[in-house]
Amino acid sequence: MKAPRARLPDLQPRLLARLRLRLAEDFRLAVLLLCGVCTIAGILPFLLTRAWRGEWLVVALDVLVIVAIASANIHAWRSGRTRGPGAFLVLVNNLGAFMLTLMAGMTGVLWTFPVLLMNYFLVDRLPALATSLALVVLVAAQPGLFAEPMQAASFAVTAGLVSLYAFIFAHRAARQHGRLEGLARRDPMTGAGNRRQMEADLADAAARFDPARPGMAVALLDLDHFKAINDTYGHDAGDRVIVNFAARVRECVRGRDRLYRFGGEEFVLLLEEVDAAGAFAALEKVRRHVGLTLHAPGGAVTVSIGAALLRQDEPWQPWLARADAALYAAKRGGRNKVVLAGAMEPPSGAAFAAAANEPAADPRLRLVT
Ligand code: GH3
Ligand code: MG
Ligand code: MG
Repeated sequence: MKAPRARLPDLQPRLLARLRLRLAEDFRLAVLLLCGVCTIAGILPFLLTRAWRGEWLVVALDVLVIVAIASANIHAWRSGRTRGPGAFLVLVNNLGAFMLTLMAGMTGVLWTFPVLLMNYFLVDRLPALATSLALVVLVAAQPGLFAEPMQAASFAVTAGLVSLYAFIFAHRAARQHGRLEGLARRDPMTGAGNRRQMEADLADAAARFDPARPGMAVALLDLDHFKAINDTYGHDAGDRVIVNFAARVRECVRGRDRLYRFGGEEFVLLLEEVDAAGAFAALEKVRRHVGLTLHAPGGAVTVSIGAALLRQDEPWQPWLARADAALYAAKRGGRNKVVLAGAMEPPSGAAFAAAANEPAADPRLRLVT
């Protein structure tokens, strides 16, 4: 007897904690479940009352709506997908509200108001606006539902305003959300992606690896002797060099290449659709451009670059670690160099091939395996 009692309190907080974590992480899922539970709780007493009174047609409609909401919620919980179930719930709610106006008259009209609001919680604001306006027009134009045209017009205006306010709120919330998301993923000083964004993008790149498609390279870029700039000219001068460095790099890479601030004066560059020769050429261009255009008060600033091509089945962490080892080799080799870690695929460009066969031929290039 004692053992189950002892396990219960332990199990419950863990389940609750998991539920809370899942809902905290997935805003759309939380909204979907909350709307579902509230709607079912709102409909249930009416369902029971109507069953008591024997109004079986409305009871059947209520049961249908509850089953649809519950199924959509269960599907969303299991699959983690909220877009489809959200759209499905909008369809069910709006059709349900309209049918209720046909069957129960003014009682149904009252239910259109929460449905209009819920539309904005369940789908994006534009489809929500379109669906809401369609519901308002269909209900307002229903023959015999309102006692006089003035009443129908009042419904159309009040319901239309509810929908408009919800649209404005949803629009502002979406813009705010976009801005916050941008802030949460950018380094405020340089505008480059931050470490969080970098980790997400590298994980995504590693998951997208396809041997049949052009490769991907990750590069670590570290300014040479940066500490001396800080020590001699102050932290603010160092900061300006970091900001200018990010701008110089962006000037000479392609639009689809992505730059992240890894920390301090260390950056990560993700190059898509490159082979070894292409990656080396692009990084050499960056190294040269920085050396020519980046200046601290005391003179030119150079950068050392270590890079690695993504291998099959390689998670992003060892991929980045190979680039880090290549950077270390670039530093050890005298700085102001590009070093490409050995890749599995055969080298396919003149610059890489020359370096692979004869590493000492180009003093700026080393091959690390
Ligand atoms: P190396 O050529 O070996 O890279 O030498 P280094 O002097 O550049 O050495 P390291 O990369 O370790 O130096 C990083 C320095 O960057 C140390 C730290 O004081 C400074 N730093 C880190 N973050 C910031 C920052 O946000 N602003 C400024 N101004 N300095 C920073
Ligand atoms: Mg440095
Ligand atoms: Mg550093």
